[in-house]
Amino acid sequence: MTTQRPHNVPAGVVTGDDLVTLLEHARDNAYAIPAVNCTSSSSANACLEAAAKNNSPIMIQVSNGGGTFVAGKGLGVTDASVIGSVALAYHVRAVAKYYGIPVVLHSDHCAKKLLPWFDGMLAADKEYFDKFGEPLFSSHMLDLSEEPDEENIAICVEYFKKMAPMKIWLEMEIGITGGEEDGVNNEDIDPEKLYTTPEQVYAVYDALSKVGPMFSIAAAFGNVHGVYKPGNVSLSPEKLLTHQEYTKKMISSPLDRPIFLVMHGGSGSTDQEISTAVANGVIKMNIDTDTQWAYWDGMRVFEAKNRAYLQGQIGNPDGAEKPNKKYYDPRTWIRASEVSMCNRVALSMEKLGSKGTYQRSSEPGEAQIGNTSKGPSSAVLVSAGVILGVGASIALNLVKKK
Ligand SMILES: [Zn+2]
Repeated sequence: MTTQRPHNVPAGVVTGDDLVTLLEHARDNAYAIPAVNCTSSSSANACLEAAAKNNSPIMIQVSNGGGTFVAGKGLGVTDASVIGSVALAYHVRAVAKYYGIPVVLHSDHCAKKLLPWFDGMLAADKEYFDKFGEPLFSSHMLDLSEEPDEENIAICVEYFKKMAPMKIWLEMEIGITGGEEDGVNNEDIDPEKLYTTPEQVYAVYDALSKVGPMFSIAAAFGNVHGVYKPGNVSLSPEKLLTHQEYTKKMISSPLDRPIFLVMHGGSGSTDQEISTAVANGVIKMNIDTDTQWAYWDGMRVFEAKNRAYLQGQIGNPDGAEKPNKKYYDPRTWIRASEVSMCNRVALSMEKLGSKGTYQRSSEPGEAQIGNTSKGPSSAVLVSAGVILGVGASIALNLVKKK
């Protein structure tokens, strides 16, 4: 199914209506956007590079722990996760547009005990919104799947009401994803609970759609966070279709895939499982474990290859007086990690079908942070350009998916 509607979105961080346009494009053309956990400007840049090289949209997401790391592990203040998450968002805002592709800025799993982190990011969104007319982040994720469904949904509704006026997307989770991530351990859960039912998904749809359309649901279908030995869990992405069909029937939707679904715990999935999930309405897939490995692996290979040049500042197999600076300069070995991670993200773009969906803009970009003292920000101008149709430098043309 290919939609004929124009799907132009600007390069750089997309929010609000542009984000809806982008995700509808993914839904209607049956591809998913990779959402990669980033813990530094280096890993974020590796994702942006992969997106630019593969003409693909990208989601850059920061976790609570990732935010704390970005701020600096030695900072030692209680709201370090907010400070770091906001810092990473500003970095991405400053550079994303120059890469010429649409970028979704997202925050990852937020359990009930981490709600102060969520509140802090929303405050940063509000501050940015008041200046530039759009939120700092494109979307946030609330994960209250550990709580009873009624409480999960009620808290999501409460937050969604705060987010809707700024047109911030909400991703929520219902049902339990196994494994361990950011301190939440579901390794010993009853296997039956690893599958969300169509009724649970519809209950979420029913409650959130009364507030607004900008939400997506992570429904568990036997997925686990992290890589486990095969055979421990059986992934059933075909169950996602029953969610779509049930909600379609309940709301009499003309769409075959009325719900925006997202996939967590996709590391280690087979290509077949991924393509079934995407065919059933998954428009975003989280990638963390596999890109963590790729980042490390790039450095591992670099060190193994150049070990004899990395044992001291001076002296290597070429001579006792030879300097090794070009080997131990962080720009060398961190770059090896970035290249490896970039290649891994590119592989995900291929598997998820997002590769080639947006032609990289060849026009020069501009930063999206803006300056309030000099009139409207570039971010505001970007939106205005799209509305007025005069933004030759901002519109990205959709290329037909191969
Ligand atoms: Zn999850």
